[in-house]
Amino acid sequence: MDTFFRLLEVCSQNINDKADVLNDLDQQIGDGDHGTNMARGFNALIAKKDSFKDKTLAQILKESAMVLISQVAGSAGPLYGTAVLKAGDSLKDIANPQESDYIVAYRAAVEGVQFRGKSDKGEKTMLDVLIPVLELMEKENKAGKSLKEMSGEILKVAQERVEYTKTIIASKGRAAYLGERSLGVADPGAYSSMILFESLVQVLEEGN
Ligand code: ADP
Ligand code: MG
Repeated sequence: MDTFFRLLEVCSQNINDKADVLNDLDQQIGDGDHGTNMARGFNALIAKKDSFKDKTLAQILKESAMVLISQVAGSAGPLYGTAVLKAGDSLKDIANPQESDYIVAYRAAVEGVQFRGKSDKGEKTMLDVLIPVLELMEKENKAGKSLKEMSGEILKVAQERVEYTKTIIASKGRAAYLGERSLGVADPGAYSSMILFESLVQVLEEGN
């Protein structure tokens, strides 16, 4: 549970540090609020941290999902909120989750985003980071690697996939209204997902 709280802290720190970058990207192909939205959501989670202390991870994820849905708002709030809700559901009956259980929970999270967003990879959204990282994790977990052992690859895939979103036209979200004018700019939601994976990697590398 300590690792979870550390992850929450690092995600919140990094999202707040990069809020201007996220707003700037969203200014170019959306309405300029993605950083502000994400920072508000993570600050609300940090404010609830003490109330999480005696709860199970599944309960915490369920409550966190509600906070993200209501506090991040916009499109990203319900999407990230659904992801966290589905991950919590998936872990609900597992007393002592292993890394493979977290990866199964992460699959449920990504499928939740796809269902809620009616979207898939290649549409210039957060899924362009979320899906390739899932595929990498599943492949490497099957090959016997721990999350820590694959942390360099997680970073690389997340960063490359944000770059990739610059090369495609948006077909979902506000950026879809821009058509070809969305080319050349990275998707803000893909960028925030990358920040969350950078945070995960930072926490994995702190641990021994
Ligand atoms: P809003 O667009 O309502 O202002 P945000 O700016 O907080 O919300 O979030 C925008 C991000 O949400 C986009 O960059 C994109 O990654 C993601 N997004 C929007 N619509 C979808 C969708 N249908 N499926 C997946 N992700 C989406
Ligand atoms: Mg926006």
